[in-house]
Parts: sequence; structure tokens; C-alpha cells
Amino acid sequence: MFSYRHAFHAGNHADVLKHTVLIATLEHLLEKPTPITVVDTHAGAGLYRLDGDYAGTSGEAADGVLRLLGPAAEGAPEQPLPPALARYLEVVRSFNRGGQARVYPGSPFITHHLLRDEDKLKLYELHPTDARTLDANIAQLDAGRQIAVLREDGFGSATKFLPPPSRRALVLVDPSYELKTDYGRTAAFVGEAVKRFATGVYAVWYPIIPRPEAHDLPRRLKTLANKAGKPWLHATLTVKSSKITTNAEGETRRPGLPASGMFLINPPYTLAEQLRPALARLAEVLAQDRHAAFTVEAGG
Ligand code: SAM
Repeated sequence: MFSYRHAFHAGNHADVLKHTVLIATLEHLLEKPTPITVVDTHAGAGLYRLDGDYAGTSGEAADGVLRLLGPAAEGAPEQPLPPALARYLEVVRSFNRGGQARVYPGSPFITHHLLRDEDKLKLYELHPTDARTLDANIAQLDAGRQIAVLREDGFGSATKFLPPPSRRALVLVDPSYELKTDYGRTAAFVGEAVKRFATGVYAVWYPIIPRPEAHDLPRRLKTLANKAGKPWLHATLTVKSSKITTNAEGETRRPGLPASGMFLINPPYTLAEQLRPALARLAEVLAQDRHAAFTVEAGG
């Protein structure tokens, strides 16, 4: 356990999908004046250097957010960026005044950037080093009691915040899935949370990889939403084939993360139509081979 460090992956295609959905969802919730609580069950370090050792080693942002910040994403002037994508890039750029993208905001910083003073943010992070970094990063925001950082298991006690006094909440569940049990724990956590607070908005990120638990998770979440009589939305983004290949020397090459998905329960009713053009553009700009694709499905 605990070999996963999000710093290696910050700004990759999965973060682009997750954070585009997060921003569109949050902005919809923020249209109403009643305060909201955001619970981020797996917060990470909060803020990442794109020119630091971690991101430099893996280079994942180069095939993610950095492609989008380049001219290729802008398209022709008559083909403007879809609004949800434009908004995502605007938020990333707001952390990078002066041109070059040096910093990538994780979900805690993106969320805090959008929240109003009356809203609350609860952050769970269990990795000792990332929890320390998160604490230090959050301290710089001087947000006082608006933000709570908990060095606890996000699957453990996060339901205690549900429902919040204002009865409006977004729960982001974004585990590393380092442990096979994370898939089952995610489904159980969301099931318990929906039981306690059926009108909350739940957003789960998951990797699309050749492993049965990964394929089962969105199915389990869909069943859960349908049984609770709640609307859902399922969006996926694929950037390359998941096939393991062998080179001329007979060495096998694993493709790295080829695709990921976001599953939401009680999504904003406008989200599907906002995401379709945004994900279509992402599938074009972030494509690593001809298998790049996207899906947006909604039901309930
Ligand atoms: N949500 C972050 C973002 O979008 O910027 C990224 C989170 S990263 C994918 C997952 C994080 O969960 C890692 O930092 C990992 O250390 C942490 N983690 C793993 N198991 C956990 C648990 N049971 N409770 C809380 N955090 C956990």
C-alpha cells in the first residue's frame, strides 16, 4: 500500500476528464445561493509542480493538460472550445499567471477556487507525505474553518458529514485503486452515503483497465442509482488501446492507463449536453492512437 503518488499523474488525461466534470458539476451547484459542502474522500496533495521531479519523470501531463494548453486544442477560430473545456482551462490557467504552465491544481484547489466563503470543504488524505503536503498547501490559502483536512480513511468516516446542515453536498470519490479492494469499498461507500443522503451529488472516478473489478464498478453504481430511483450519468474518455504489445526484441509493453470514467449520481440535468462536445474535443486532442473515443450515457 501507499506506493501511489498522484504527483506522477497530475494533469494526465484522467485528471483532465475528472476535473472538467468536477468544475461543470460544481458550477451548476453554485448557481443556487444555499451553501454547499464538498467532501473529497481522496484529496491527494492539492497542488502539483509540472516542472518538478515527479511530473517530469512520468511526463503524463505532456499528453494531458499540456496538449490542451497548446495551440492544437484551440482549433480553428470558427471552432471555439466547448464551454466546459474552456472553463476547465480557464481554471488551470488561473493558477499559472504569466504564460507557462508550471503548476497543476488538484481537486482540493480547484474546488476551493470555485467555492464561496459560506461553502465548506472536507478533505481526506491518508498517505503520510501527501497529507503533510496537503496540510501545508491548504494552510497557505488561509481559509480557516472553511476547509478541514482529515488524515483518515476517506471510506471510513466521510459519511458523517452527510447530510450537511444546508442539505446540499457534492461528494468526490477518487481513490488510487492501488488495492483491488478499493473498487468494492467505493461501491459500498457510495451505497451507504446515498442511504444517508439520497439527494447528494456523488461523483466517482475509476480507471478503465482490463480487470473485472474495474468493469464491474460502473455497473454496480448504475444498479445502486436505479434501485434508489436516482438519475445517473456515466462519461468515459479513451486515449489509446489497452492492448499489451510486444516489440521486435520480444519485450512486452504495457500501455499505461488507456481510459477512465466518471460516474455521477444526481448529476446536474445539463451535464450530459455540456460534456458531449467537451469530450468529443478531448478525444481528438488527447488521442494517442486510433482507439481514442468517448461516451456519455445518462439514465434514471
Ligand atoms: N482527488 C485528487 C485530485 O483530483 O487532485 C487525486 C487523488 S489520488 C487519485 C488518490 C489519493 O488517495 C492519493 O493521494 C492516495 O494517497 C489517497 N488515498 C489512498 N487510499 C486512501 C484512503 N483510504 N483514504 C484517503 N485517502 C487515500
